[in-house]
Parts: sequence; structure tokens; C-alpha cells
Amino acid sequence: MTKLTPILSAHWDEKDSFTIEAYKRHGGYTASAKALAMDPDAVIQLVKDSGLRGRGGAGFPTGMKWGFIPQGDDKDHYLVVNADESEPGTCKDMPLLMANPHVLIEGCIIACHAIRAKHAFIYIRGEVTHVARRLNQAIEDAYKAGLLGKGIDVVLHIGAGAYICGEETALLDSLEGFRGQPRLRPPFPAIAGLYARPTVVNNVESIASVPAIIANGAEWYQGMGTEKSKGATLYSLSGHVKNPGQFEAPLGITLREILELSGGIRAGHTLKFWTPGGSSTPIFTTEHLDVPLDYEGVSAAGSMLGTKALQIFDETTCVVRAVLRWTEFYKHESCGKCTPCREGTWWLVQLLRDLEAGKGTEADLAKLLDLCDNIMGRSFCALGDGATSPITSSIKYFRDEYIAHITNGGCPFDPVASTLFAGAGA
Ligand code: SF4
Repeated sequence: MTKLTPILSAHWDEKDSFTIEAYKRHGGYTASAKALAMDPDAVIQLVKDSGLRGRGGAGFPTGMKWGFIPQGDDKDHYLVVNADESEPGTCKDMPLLMANPHVLIEGCIIACHAIRAKHAFIYIRGEVTHVARRLNQAIEDAYKAGLLGKGIDVVLHIGAGAYICGEETALLDSLEGFRGQPRLRPPFPAIAGLYARPTVVNNVESIASVPAIIANGAEWYQGMGTEKSKGATLYSLSGHVKNPGQFEAPLGITLREILELSGGIRAGHTLKFWTPGGSSTPIFTTEHLDVPLDYEGVSAAGSMLGTKALQIFDETTCVVRAVLRWTEFYKHESCGKCTPCREGTWWLVQLLRDLEAGKGTEADLAKLLDLCDNIMGRSFCALGDGATSPITSSIKYFRDEYIAHITNGGCPFDPVASTLFAGAGA
């Protein structure tokens, strides 16, 4: 069985793991010293060779992204770290920053050197004040230690708590002081990003993975994972399990293995459905327990690896209600820029509320799917597409449960609670 491979999470159980002293005690900031002595292009090549892919959801090769930054121009370059972790179920970057903020700062130093940037901006979501405080302290300590401020600066920017600002171009607009809404591409951020300058936008975990790669080499990283999904990553296990938390393992591990390592589903219950990568990735069921959790394996099975947020639901969960909850989230977070998502998510919620409360019909179910079809692929950004994923996948696997709501005139699991939505407005 695949074993856990604690790299990012190696020292999280030490009570001072977040301090600069603890980070240095375990060899911290030696990788950045090594990288700063290297040619920037050689650093990019090393990251390319490692096979590291973006850990924010899309899985784009990190070194290749860095390589898109034009070199030898006279423009300022920027590194932007996306710490706007907001997807329901996704909870890896915040624990990482609480336990080890310095690994991100060291990653920023290396990445800035590689792309010839003098400034890194870390954009963190507004609600996580405790994480922002910890990161701020770490940045201050890195300045005091002379690790920052000598050609590379790091600025922490606190957002106002909008899910859409996790979309990289909306994040850039927000960082510039505008309302956070996705930009039309091209131009891509590598050409015209922050302040219209060449910009790399990377997820927290992607940048935090870089120091270990520099320290141990590309081959070491290549030695973990699967053919096209290299390395190890943080899988966030939540929901109806005995031991929720972060499980750092090589890409390609299966949910069955993670459940065995973590103690399994809570006592007396069985797995019903789960998400492989957060609520915007199509749900899986018990038949997917042995799907390799890497980019290719999850995609071949009809979903996406996303943020590796494994939300586990046992047989006591009403799938219709869970999907309604997620859809209400997407409706609330729709930025309003494009019609399919702005109007469509509102109608999705109306139909789902009726179905969940037992007031829907089979024609409503067909309408729901038709609506999803009109949002999917027709929205300006991935939020609209993501909103349809839990709906279409849950109808694919649990159509009987939707029908049971219609024939029962309410939720077969908990009819009292289902009336919570009776007469609810927009
Ligand atoms: Fe905004 Fe939704 Fe359109 Fe994205 S899909 S631009 S979030 S309205």
C-alpha cells in the first residue's frame, strides 16, 4: 500500500513549527541560498524537470508557467501567490500556512529569482485573520533575518472574502483595487498580468513545494507519483470519517488507501459519495474507491483532481440536500459578469429547492439538466461550469434519490428538516 510521504507536513506536530527558528532548524532557507547562487533559467529548468504541476486545481506544469515570462525585457515582473482558498471542502493551504508559513516565503524567494521578479504578492482571503496574522509575522521575521528586503520583497494582501477572487485574473483585478471579476484572455497574465506586467500566479502549495525540490533535486521529486503526475501532495480528508485532516502522499494514491491510513469511515456507517477535489468536481461513489488520485486517473473516471479536497459523505446524507447547499454557495458567489452563470445559478437553486422539499416534478429534473447544459461551457469562467458538476454527477449516480423526493413529497431522509426550504425566497 502507498505510504504517507510527509514533506510539507513533516514537522507540523512540533509546537513551534511555524517559527523561523524551527524552520531553520530543519534546514529551512538553505534551498533559497542554493537557488540564488544558480542562474535563474537553471532554476526554471530544475522545476520543469521535477514535473511539479500546479496544486490549485488546474494542474498546469509550474516550471512551464515560469518559463512563459519574457526574459531580457525591461519591464517589472511579479509573482502572485493565490492564497484565496475558498472552495467548499478545500482546506490545505490554510493549515499549511498556519503550521509552516516560512516554506511559502522561501518558495517566493526562489520563484522571484527564477522569473526575475523583485516583488511577490500573497493574496489571502479576508476571513482567515488568524492565518494572515501568522503569515504577517513570518514575513516580518524573514525581513529581520535579512532574507527579504535585499532585492526581493513580499507583500501580504488581504482580500474581502469573494470566492471568485481565487480565479487568477479576478484576483489580479482585486489586487489592483478593482472589483474582482475575471478578465478576458488573451492577454494571459504571463504577458500582461498585475499592473499589465508579466506575472506568474501560483497556488500556495505549488510555491511551497519548490524549496524541497531545489534542496533534493528534480529526480527525487520525479521518483514519487505516477507517470504524468509527479511528486507528493496534500489530500484534505473531511466529513464522515474517523480522522479528518491533511494526508500528504504521492499522487496516485487511492481513496481506499487514504481511508485505511486514516481510520476509515465513522463507526457503523458506510461510504455513499465523495468529492475528489472540492465541490466543483463531479462527485464519485463507492465504485471509485480505487481510482488513482492523480490528474489523469481522476479525469479518466469522469471528474477532476481539483484541490484534492476529499469530502466524504456516508449513507445518512441526502445527496439532493448536499447538492442544494453547494449550489446555493455558487449562486451567492457568482460575480454577475456573464448571463449563463448569473441567471442560471439562481434558477438552479429554485429548482433544487423545490425538488428537495418534495414540490418538484420529473419535468423539473429534466429542466435542471437542461439548465446545466446551458451553463456548462457557456460561462465566462470556471465558476459557472463548476456549479453544474455536483448537479449533473449526482443525477447520474443518484437519480433514484431525486425521484424519491418527488414521489415521497419530501426528503426520504429527514422530512422535517427538508421543510426548512418551504416558501424560501431568492
Ligand atoms: Fe462571473 Fe460566473 Fe461568469 Fe465567472 S461564470 S464570470 S463567476 S458570472
